[in-house]
Amino acid sequence: MAERVCAVAIDGPSGAGKSTIAKAVAARCGFVYVDTGAIYRTVGLAVRRAGEDPHDAGAVAALLPGLDIRFDYAPDGTQRMFLNGEDVSGDIRTPEMSMYASAVSAIPAVRAFLLEMQRAIARSRSAVMDGRDIGTVVLPDAGLKLFLTASPEARAVRRLRELRAKGDPSTLEEVAADMARRDHDDASRAAAPLRAAEDAVLVDTSDMTLDESIQAVYELVCRTYPEAAR
Ligand code: C5P
Repeated sequence: MAERVCAVAIDGPSGAGKSTIAKAVAARCGFVYVDTGAIYRTVGLAVRRAGEDPHDAGAVAALLPGLDIRFDYAPDGTQRMFLNGEDVSGDIRTPEMSMYASAVSAIPAVRAFLLEMQRAIARSRSAVMDGRDIGTVVLPDAGLKLFLTASPEARAVRRLRELRAKGDPSTLEEVAADMARRDHDDASRAAAPLRAAEDAVLVDTSDMTLDESIQAVYELVCRTYPEAAR
């Protein structure tokens, strides 16, 4: 019998631990991990490099046909992003690119441009995919949908730690303010706003360690897809 293709959709606000948890669970289950935020960030970087305003829907839409966006996986499972053949995996991880990604992601033409790319990978392989609209728009038929969240304080502290590890000098106040603005923009936009799918399981990681969060999500995946148990 052909192996079934398993699909796990993880949505939630920034800093809830989605990518770290999704990546660890995917590795443990032998699934591919798809970080869709990285794809939006790559569009944001292209807009920045073109010198366009990321809020200008017309200018951004005009750039899309000229963009060649691809991703692959490094031997350690890390997702690498390529923009017109150049590896931009590092360039997209800055606070500025977070804001660019959030701005371009509100443009319906951008979401439409990226939709098929995201669906195609989940059709071909078992995947854990994280983002803002995976359970609601990209993979509405996913076997398991999770909405991962944590208190604003916990999320800001985690994001600060990540940025500090990369040498970014942002303060907690700056990180918290950026995050609050991005959450507000992501949740209030008209195109695919951040919200939990009706059938999503809510997981609040505020009082969990990273290992506990990974274990909780792993167990939920195994309950839906027993073949993922290792
Ligand atoms: O997940 P990450 O913080 O890298 O995402 C950057 C931005 O991309 C988010 O703030 C959000 O605006 C946008 N995004 C989205 N839909 C997704 C993934 C990310 O709108 N599926």
